[in-house]
Amino acid sequence: MMLRFGMDFGGTNLKAGLFDENGHATAFKTTPLQQLVASGPLLTALLDLAREIMCGHRVVAGGLAIKGLVDLESGTVREDIGAGSLLASVPLRDFFSASLGIPFAVDNDARAYAWGEWLFGAGRGSRTMACMTLGTGIGCAVVSHGVPYTGTDQYGGLLGGHLSIDRNGPICPCGQRGCLELYCSATALRQRVREAHPELQHHPGDVLEQFFLGVRDGLARYGETCDAMVEDLATGIVNIIHAYAPDVVVLGGGVMKSADVLLPPLTALVHQRAWTFPRGMVKIVPASLGDTAAATGMAFHHRLEHI
Ligand SMILES: [Zn+2]
Repeated sequence: MMLRFGMDFGGTNLKAGLFDENGHATAFKTTPLQQLVASGPLLTALLDLAREIMCGHRVVAGGLAIKGLVDLESGTVREDIGAGSLLASVPLRDFFSASLGIPFAVDNDARAYAWGEWLFGAGRGSRTMACMTLGTGIGCAVVSHGVPYTGTDQYGGLLGGHLSIDRNGPICPCGQRGCLELYCSATALRQRVREAHPELQHHPGDVLEQFFLGVRDGLARYGETCDAMVEDLATGIVNIIHAYAPDVVVLGGGVMKSADVLLPPLTALVHQRAWTFPRGMVKIVPASLGDTAAATGMAFHHRLEHI
């Protein structure tokens, strides 16, 4: 069986897997980044892990999803904008392609996630899909008519988290005020819950999950906080809809465990406000691949489609 290899270099974990032609993972492994970094030079550790997973299988192509702006031509994370990336300016595509002996692609992790969801997940069959993941920050990417949107400078579609929803809001590290990410990333949502509900301050589990349990139970004071979150998220999503005119918006991240609480009021508000034809045509759905989406997207990266 011919397989494809995909790797997702995230902020906390490295996820890597093998995928069959239908996008099903035949092997998938999550390794804490700390463990990788401790095991020696990072590139060598990544390569060893890739070899270990591919060992004994016929793998025809592979790819790596990584944070930062990736120059698709050189397969490198750009140093000027990928500041802080451990692998900035390393010729990743050429290194992995030569070391593993297969065609290889490198792309931004949010775009890879969106591509995976478009091909095999919640975005399948949509004409234009916008995808947002609520994590440490907000990852955003757009796929339109079968092509990942890149814009002029390959940044296109990736900056949904930096659409401002309040020009008088707090200053974002990007320099603008009131970016969506400051209000609606998982980190920001957690912070909002802790500030509004001190009783959850020291909750040992996931504070957001606990919070949404309270909303589900109809606790009025939690409901108010939830309404404010939904209002902010809806404002951001309406901006994205007005920019890219998607028919599907896919939302990812651990917060979507509470999609049953979050999505009905969010969808109602977005449908009320977004200018679409016909009104209310945009579906808002939770990601379906989730953890494996970016690795899947890279295994089937559009630059590897001919293989
Ligand atoms: Zn910003």
